[in-house]
Amino acid sequence: MKSNYLKIGCDVIKLVYKTLRTNNICGKILYVADPVVDNLYGTAVREQIQEIGILKTELVEYNTISYAMSIAERIIATDVSCIVGMGGGRVLDVCKYASYISKTPYLSIPTTVANDGIASPIAVLKRQDNKPKSLGCAIAPMMLVDTNIILKSPEILIKAGIGDTISNYMALLDWEYASLKGKDEINGYAYLMSKNSIDALMKTRYQKICPDFIEVLVNSLVLSGIAMDFAGSSRPVSGSEHLFSHALDYYSDKKNLHGLQVALGTVSMLKLIGHSCDEVVEYLKKFEVDVNPKTLEIDEETFVYCMQNSRQMRTNRYTYLDETDLSTQRLKKIYKELVELL
Ligand SMILES: [Zn+2]
Repeated sequence: MKSNYLKIGCDVIKLVYKTLRTNNICGKILYVADPVVDNLYGTAVREQIQEIGILKTELVEYNTISYAMSIAERIIATDVSCIVGMGGGRVLDVCKYASYISKTPYLSIPTTVANDGIASPIAVLKRQDNKPKSLGCAIAPMMLVDTNIILKSPEILIKAGIGDTISNYMALLDWEYASLKGKDEINGYAYLMSKNSIDALMKTRYQKICPDFIEVLVNSLVLSGIAMDFAGSSRPVSGSEHLFSHALDYYSDKKNLHGLQVALGTVSMLKLIGHSCDEVVEYLKKFEVDVNPKTLEIDEETFVYCMQNSRQMRTNRYTYLDETDLSTQRLKKIYKELVELL
């Protein structure tokens, strides 16, 4: 089944029944959410599922690879016909992977938009040693993004979503650079989608986070996800700034939101390659997206170490990091500038 049923807007959470019916879903339906989200919005979703099929409920507490695999196994063994996942990235990535492994249709209902994972073909799950691992899978074939619900989510998560979209700015520069150096090919369609994603966000007439702005942000994040799917890799939306964020995830004890880390990575890289960062910094400040290394509790030593080791996070992704002076002295200087600027 390739239905690609997507609705973005106010109160679209009421369309669960209609979505399932349109896609000919019946029988056992596994509803997956975390307890907090279930408390807030679960009743409305569960009632609609019960109108069309047999409701099975799974309240998620973990986001490990083995847990997602165990759900997939149960789906196969008990003939579940569809997964309905509701929540933030952690729950949705578990569902996305379980759906992919079990080849079961999946309706995704994001309640936060902290990154472009909402519509990406990639699930980030934890390995046994607690480190994150990106796993290739598929975009959810059915998705309902209720902007009313997103608006009620913690503002910092919305700001992280802004940050992840902003990172397309650097990712596209890296892609162009890799292409120029003969290290990668640009997929024109995917490039255009990623470019449109960031342009729509940066040229928005909205000056603050409001319902209409949320719709623009969700559109941008979904477009980023489709760009990845189209390119067959995260390349259109993930360059050196993401490698830096991966290094932070790997080496730093302080855990920050992905979207904030990649936004910091974007400004850092722009500075490192001598590109103007005014437009990006101005935008972040307008929406009060604070990515100052001090706020994120990233000290100078961690910044320098992670920047110097970013390259190793993914050796087959050619970026500006490959040919930029990453000497300790230079990075310390950039760090000081960032603390003052952001
Ligand atoms: Zn990202």
